[in-house]
Amino acid sequence: MAQAPQDPFEWIEDEALRRERTGLVRGLRPRPADSPVLDLAGNDYLGLTRHPEITGAAGEAAHRWGAGATGSRLVTGSTELHAELERELAEFCGFEAALVFSSGYAANLAAVTALGGPGSLIVSDAGNHASIVDGCRLARAETAITAHADPEAVRKTLGAHPGRRALVVTDSVFSVDGDAAPLAALAEICRAHGAALLVDDAHGLGVLGDGGRGAPHTAGIAGDGGVVATLTLSKSLGAQGGAVLGPARVIGQLINTARTFIFDTGLAPAAAGAALAALRLLRREPGRAARVRTVAGALYGGLTARGLTAVRPEAAVVSVRAPSPSAAVEWAGACRSAGLAVGCFRPPSVPDGVSRLRLTARADLTDQQIAWAVSTVARTAPAPG
Ligand code: PMP
Repeated sequence: MAQAPQDPFEWIEDEALRRERTGLVRGLRPRPADSPVLDLAGNDYLGLTRHPEITGAAGEAAHRWGAGATGSRLVTGSTELHAELERELAEFCGFEAALVFSSGYAANLAAVTALGGPGSLIVSDAGNHASIVDGCRLARAETAITAHADPEAVRKTLGAHPGRRALVVTDSVFSVDGDAAPLAALAEICRAHGAALLVDDAHGLGVLGDGGRGAPHTAGIAGDGGVVATLTLSKSLGAQGGAVLGPARVIGQLINTARTFIFDTGLAPAAAGAALAALRLLRREPGRAARVRTVAGALYGGLTARGLTAVRPEAAVVSVRAPSPSAAVEWAGACRSAGLAVGCFRPPSVPDGVSRLRLTARADLTDQQIAWAVSTVARTAPAPG
């Protein structure tokens, strides 16, 4: 008798069971349009994603340029709107040129793979975002992972490879704990070794420095010949998409070689229009950046005053320790039941295996909302593990 054919997805049941046992199941929870929940889980740092000026600009851009970009940037997907956004992003952040992508993820893949090719050395911080990690995997270069935020480890690694083409890559503000990279020290080390420095400023743009010009500008390294930055348009700018900023010759190299630029449909005009409007609004209202930092400081101060362990925030991300993955899930669930959405980070999304709640500050939160959020998180906290 012929044997019953084997189920090609049986292995999925096994993996799902393992996730369930360790409290690591993930699922989607579609958000209603008019949710009464206070959102400290998203990345809308400046409170712009629903701002009428930004949504209006998105609609106008779609109306004028189309709902989609129609093709890749090298074919039909480059509009005057994309060029305008690139010019203004570069100018605002202090770089010579910029190139926008359909996401920050694609921008990081592009920058890491195009600048760290075969034969070169990539030096990557152990706490870097997954998109950088994936860029390193795709680059077919030798990758050295250095201890978190440790410039001396970078110096040692570069020193062990004299004369080698090298790319040092780091988040400016790390997405899990919200701590900052030692950018000035890294830039000095890179300069001394003739290495390029790539800074992912996803969490710095719109929050750090003079009017939110970002971490490289604040560290005084924007526009340096060896420095390149990547951005997302989906956090402070309330839109969607990503960008690489740097010397014009680097941008030219990306246009010619970066696979996530060449083979991807261009950024949707609505997203480009929204991001450009947000950038112009930020120029007009630079106080929004300082307000996010004040809100983050108030969240941190309130939580630690109530005995919780948190990391002092450098930008908008406030990370609070949880005793275990399941405690983190329960804690986030209790907050949600009380009407507060917070992020829940646990393995495998955290490089050190430590589970956390992640709160994001927003410029548009009132002092009353901040106080209520602090008391809600504290009141629902699990007993220390
Ligand atoms: N880099 C960092 C540090 C991030 O936090 C994120 C977004 N979570 C990205 C890159 C990816 O950007 P995007 O969401 O626009 O793809």
